[in-house]
Amino acid sequence: MKQNKISDYLENVKTIGMGGHIRPDGDCVGSCMGLYTYLKHQYSDIKVDLYLEPIPDKFKFLKYSDEIKNSYDGDKEYDLFISLDSSDIDRLGEFEPYFNNAKKTLCIDHHISNTEFAMDNIVFPKASSASEVVYTLLDEDKVDYDVACALYLGIIHDSGVFKYSNTSAATMTIAGKLMEKGIPFTNIIDNTFYTKTYVQNQILGRALLESVLFYDGKCIFSVVKKSEFDFYNITNKDLDGIVEQLRITKGVECAIFLYEVGELEYKVSLRSNEIVDVSAIATYFGGGGHIRAAGFNMKGTVYDVINNISEQIEKQLG
Ligand code: AMP
Ligand code: MN
Ligand code: MN
Repeated sequence: MKQNKISDYLENVKTIGMGGHIRPDGDCVGSCMGLYTYLKHQYSDIKVDLYLEPIPDKFKFLKYSDEIKNSYDGDKEYDLFISLDSSDIDRLGEFEPYFNNAKKTLCIDHHISNTEFAMDNIVFPKASSASEVVYTLLDEDKVDYDVACALYLGIIHDSGVFKYSNTSAATMTIAGKLMEKGIPFTNIIDNTFYTKTYVQNQILGRALLESVLFYDGKCIFSVVKKSEFDFYNITNKDLDGIVEQLRITKGVECAIFLYEVGELEYKVSLRSNEIVDVSAIATYFGGGGHIRAAGFNMKGTVYDVINNISEQIEKQLG
């Protein structure tokens, strides 16, 4: 089967709206900025608007990141709306009306839980990242330095710098082709993935110190409460990497990380190593994700939330 290219979706298109998921992560920003930059450089007669919630400062080295629209900009009807890295329509947050009002819609994603909510859906659950999917839609010769920086950023974030199980030979080949564009890959990796601020290290340390092993050491959980957000003066953007550190605790199959998002409401991140399908658990609780990394929101006390999740994990572990 011939793989479609982005050009196949642009016939008679004069205006494009684009968006990614709420609380944009590296892949969301990378895939959106990569495609936005490609369209700007290669299709200068098309007007493109990119909508995303405010992105972390560490991603602002990307060209045109200052052009991202952070809030709803009045009613508009785009010829085409492209959703990236979002498994369902709710993930578009406040920008969903632009999707609903567009003449044509396209969803580019890699979540196994994707609900195929657009008119055209390009969903590759085996791809490391939405950024990897975007790359396959582009004309390789036209991928320039700025596009390459963005897509490389997305790939390293969702693959944990090429170490998670979603990394494939295809991922490495694409990364190699992006490196050939002369991108500062060491800086991108260090400055956006590994570098942590002092408070980010402090909250990581605290979350690890207070983590709890259970189910014979096969599961681990930790929680960051609202009071800690205030005490350390942090936001949810400062919590990256905590669940990954929990996951690699020796003997652990499943890691659960919670942070308080409101009165008796938590954002849940799940990671597994070899057995548990956390995407199935997240989908069951109204969220989504991948087999080894998934998330959702849940109401209740920490005790309730952990109990509910453990029940589902135990069902799978038997
Ligand atoms: P996180 O634990 O937030 O890093 O998310 C892990 C994976 O699950 C990512 O691919 C997210 O896109 C996905 N995910 C997280 N939260 C949700 C949610 N509420 N609904 C759907 N997918 C989610
Ligand atoms: Mn994402
Ligand atoms: Mn992704």
